[in-house]
Amino acid sequence: MTASLLLILAYSISPYSLLLQRRSSSSSSINPTIQQPVAAGEEEEEEVLSSEQYSCVSRQQLQIIRSSYSSSKPSPFLLSRLKEYEQRHKRCDPFSASFNRSSRELKPEEDEAENYCRYIVWTPVNGLGNRMLSISSSFLYALLTNRVLLVDFGPDMVDLFCEPFHNSTWFLPRDFTFKGRANTQLLRREEEQKKEMPYVASLLQLFLSYDNDDYDKLFYKSETQPLLKKVPWLVLRSDQYFAPYLFLMPCFRAELDRMFPDDKETVFHHLGRYLFSPSNQVWGHIIGFYDAYLAKADRRIGLQIRVFSLDKTPASLILSQVINCIQEESRITTTTTTASSSGRNRTTTTTAILVASLLGQFYTELNRMYKEWNEKAGATVVGVYRTNHEEMQVLGSSSHNMKALVDIYLLSMCDVLVTSPRSTFGYVAHGLAGLTPWILQSQDIEDEEQRVKEPACRRGVSKEPCLQFHANYYDTSPDHREAGGPVPVIMDCEDFQYGLKLVNRRV
Ligand code: GDP
Repeated sequence: MTASLLLILAYSISPYSLLLQRRSSSSSSINPTIQQPVAAGEEEEEEVLSSEQYSCVSRQQLQIIRSSYSSSKPSPFLLSRLKEYEQRHKRCDPFSASFNRSSRELKPEEDEAENYCRYIVWTPVNGLGNRMLSISSSFLYALLTNRVLLVDFGPDMVDLFCEPFHNSTWFLPRDFTFKGRANTQLLRREEEQKKEMPYVASLLQLFLSYDNDDYDKLFYKSETQPLLKKVPWLVLRSDQYFAPYLFLMPCFRAELDRMFPDDKETVFHHLGRYLFSPSNQVWGHIIGFYDAYLAKADRRIGLQIRVFSLDKTPASLILSQVINCIQEESRITTTTTTASSSGRNRTTTTTAILVASLLGQFYTELNRMYKEWNEKAGATVVGVYRTNHEEMQVLGSSSHNMKALVDIYLLSMCDVLVTSPRSTFGYVAHGLAGLTPWILQSQDIEDEEQRVKEPACRRGVSKEPCLQFHANYYDTSPDHREAGGPVPVIMDCEDFQYGLKLVNRRV
C-alpha cells in the first residue's frame, strides 16, 4: 500500500472560541476525576487515595468490590503508557491552547513534531455494547499512535460515564462540526482516484463498521499507517472491537506485546475498566440493586439473554436452551446441600441468578421454576432477579442506555456468566468481569425441527470480545510466521463465522 493509493477527504471545521462549552450535564453528574487506580506499586497507591476520586463514586467502590475476586493486574509498561497518555490528553484536551490551534489551523502535519496534538474522534453507531467496544479499540489505537481520544457523545450518552482522564475532558466540544460526515470514507473509489491526485487531508473519516468496504479496510494494513500519522484529525465511525486486529499488524505488534506481555485476554478488561466508570447517577442504580439482591448470595450467576429474532427462534426454545445449559454444566448448576442423615447442621449455598434481557418472559419463567425448586428444598437457595425489561432496543434514549449500562455492570459483577452468541452486550459484560463465559449455542439459523441443541452451551475460548467484521490481510493460521514471529494470539470466535479474538493459547 503506497501513499498514492490514499485519497483522503478533507472537511471544514467551524472556528473555535477559547471558551469551549462543555456538554450539558457533564458538570453536574460527571466530574473530572483522577484516573482509575490500578494496583501496581506505591506510585499508583498515592493516586488511589486522592480526594478527587470521591467525585466518581463507582471508581472507588468498584475497586473495593473487584479486589475480592479480580486477580489480573495491568503490566507496568501499560501503566506507564496510560500515565503518558494522561499527560498528553491534558496538554491537548479541548480546554488547551494546542486544541484551539490545531482545530483552527487544520493542516496536515508534515514534520510529525512530538508535541503536536493529533486526535481520534469517536462517533456513535449501533447499541451500547458495540459502542463500548469501539471506544476501547479507539483508545488502544490512540495509545499506539500518540493520539488523543475525544468522544462525540450525543444526549443519550453524556450521563453514562465519569470522565476517564485525570483533570481534563474527553468530550468533543459541541461547536466542533465537520461537513459531509455521514457519507465520507477513508478512501475514494478507483474511478475517483483517477480524476484527482492524492493528497493528505487534515481530517478524515475512518469507517470500520460491519458494512465497511475494501477501501475502508485499508486502515487495517500496516503500510497505511505512516500516511494516517500525518492526518491530525481522524473521525472514527465504528461498531467493532477492532483491537485484536492491531495485534496482527506488524507496525504495532512489538508495542502491544510490551503492553500485554503475559495475558492477551485482558486487553478489553484493563482498557474497559480504565475507561468506563459508571456516572454517579448510573452507579446509584447499580449498587442499590447489587446490595439488595446480589451481594449477600454466596454465588452470583449472570444470564444474558439476547434475542435477535423471535421469528427465527421462539422464546420457549431459548428458555429450554438456558435451562439445559444451567443443568448440564456442573460448574453452573445450582445445587443445594441437603440435611445430612446424621442430623448435623447443614450448610446452604445460596445462589443469585441475574437475568438480563430485553424480554421479560425469561425472568418470569426462571423465577417460577426456582420458586418451586426452593419449596422442595425447604429453603430459599436460589433467588432469581432482574432490573428491567425494556422489551425492545431503543436508539437515542438516555434512560434506556442507562438501564443497559446497569445490566452490563451487574452482569460484570457476577461470578459465572452465561451469554448469548454474537451479542456485543454480552462481550462487554464478560470482558469487564474478566471471565470466560459459557456461550449459549446459537439458535440463530433456520431450524426446521425447532429443537434444543446439544450441548446447550459451551465454555468460550477467551475472556476477550470478538472482532466480528474485519479485513483479511494477515494469515492467522497457527503455523503462520511473519517478520515478528508466529501469530499465536488470534483465534476464530466461537460464535461468529470469520470473527477473530485474542487468546492466550489456541485450543
Ligand atoms: P448487541 O446488539 O447484542 O450486540 O448489543 P448492543 O449493546 O450493541 O445493542 C443492543 C442494545 O439493546 C443495548 O445497547 C440495549 O440498549 C438493549 N439491550 C439488549 N439487551 C439488553 C439487556 O439485557 N438489558 C437492557 N437494559 N438492555 C438491553
